Amino acid sequence: MKPELAVRRLVHGMGYRYRLHRHDLPGRPDLVFPGRQKVIFVHGCFWHQHADSACKIAHSPKSNRAYWLPKLERNVARDAQHEARLAELGWEVLVLWECDVKARTGIVERIREFLEPR
Ligand SMILES: [Zn+2]
Repeated sequence: MKPELAVRRLVHGMGYRYRLHRHDLPGRPDLVFPGRQKVIFVHGCFWHQHADSACKIAHSPKSNRAYWLPKLERNVARDAQHEARLAELGWEVLVLWECDVKARTGIVERIREFLEPR
């Protein structure tokens, strides 16, 4: 199952309602919680270059690096811009990574903590 779909099912199962990919928000966040002014991105570790040494998916490409590296760097820069812009607009952002979603490591807790901080 694609990580984004897995997160959608999980969040739905936790009883939260959300909208998908609002085009009027920077970066078209994967899940949008309008009443809470919060958004969740589910990032693929390769495309968005997960900067975690424990990540087994976000390896840098071994072939055709002249093509891939600038492209991936642009993705990372764009993500940072989107997050900064969302923050300026008053939205809180949670980024979930593909490898964490697949391993399910603390994902439910992180989502709950994000949506319902104590
Ligand atoms: Zn990862």
